[in-house]
Amino acid sequence: MKIAVLPGDGIGTEIVAEAVKVLQALDLPFEMETALVGGAAYAAHGHPLPEATLALAKQADAVLFGAVGDWKYDKLERHLRPEQAILGLRKNLGLFANFRPAICHEPLVAASSLKPELVSGLDILIIRELTGDIYFGQPRGRRVATDGLFPGAEEAFDTMRYSKPEIERIAHVAFQAARKRGKRVTSVDKANVLETFQFWKDVVSEVGLQYPDVALDHMYVDNAAMQLVKAPKKFDVIVTGNMFGDILSDQASMLTGSIGMLPSASLNASNQGLYEPSHGSAPDIAGQGIANPLATILSAAMMLRFSLNQEAAAQRIETAVKTVLAQGLRTADIFSEGSTRVSTVEMGNAVVRALSS
Ligand code: NAD
Repeated sequence: MKIAVLPGDGIGTEIVAEAVKVLQALDLPFEMETALVGGAAYAAHGHPLPEATLALAKQADAVLFGAVGDWKYDKLERHLRPEQAILGLRKNLGLFANFRPAICHEPLVAASSLKPELVSGLDILIIRELTGDIYFGQPRGRRVATDGLFPGAEEAFDTMRYSKPEIERIAHVAFQAARKRGKRVTSVDKANVLETFQFWKDVVSEVGLQYPDVALDHMYVDNAAMQLVKAPKKFDVIVTGNMFGDILSDQASMLTGSIGMLPSASLNASNQGLYEPSHGSAPDIAGQGIANPLATILSAAMMLRFSLNQEAAAQRIETAVKTVLAQGLRTADIFSEGSTRVSTVEMGNAVVRALSS
């Protein structure tokens, strides 16, 4: 089982070190190799995704990724910015299916911005298509308008598009995931306004016929945004396009208390995957030893489940995380009165201890 370890920038190095520690404590035959990515790679090699890093990621069974980005690189040309590394990895590895579970752990119910009764027991899975939609559609650019409301004015444009196979494959992923959970899929679209998403809705419905055991409903994205804060527990699996998924999954993350708790997985057709916390490199707290490593540790658990076929080990990690939360251990982002405040390293150590207890 070969794992490419790409810590990246900011808190990336701190949180990935804890996840690696937890993986090592499992005593499984992993081969882990670390490489630079993001701003750290740019500083050393002049590119955020050097050839050697990409080659390592390609030949690994899975990539454990921290986070990339730092304000000091904001002035770089777009293609050299640290964030391009993650886009490059998604594209080169064909990672079209992004899994973002939003689970509210019982001891953290009070940390949510919603009322406890709305989030207690929350367990939803957002599946976001990751390599298509308006983020990648061509043509795009700037030009002088020849028509529209202001002919002759400068304008910018992006193209929203989805092909049938792109929609079919993400729909299959969603239905198959729902089969292992609550057997309900909500497909989120904007079919009332956008042709692309009427097509999306038609194709998802067609794929749904192959899964008679899974209930499918459709929801407009504006309504979905509202329902996520009104009654989030009504959802089981949400499947949606790249842009809507980007926004809704961040919204859902806050239901669970802290972005520092949320893992993610991005998979390709052969279940090779990139596993990372849902948050960024948090330059505001980097180097202080206070970042929450649990999202990364839980991402490592997803890696064991989806790419390395080690369900039992995945569950061991998830149980260990529940144990440390039940013990009242909290990093600063999830700290509340009466709990015990711990550092990034202390949290990692506590998870390792809980693994063997
Ligand atoms: P961010 O997620 O890094 O931070 C947002 C807030 O959440 C900050 O206050 C931060 O301190 C806090 N936070 C994030 N993770 C935390 C953790 N594990 N423990 C405790 N607190 C945590 O988002 P941002 O500030 O908008 O972006 C910072 C940099 O990260 C930018 O350069 C951005 O482009 C990049 N970014 C990278 C990724 C990625 O690598 N996939 C994703 C999002 C943002």
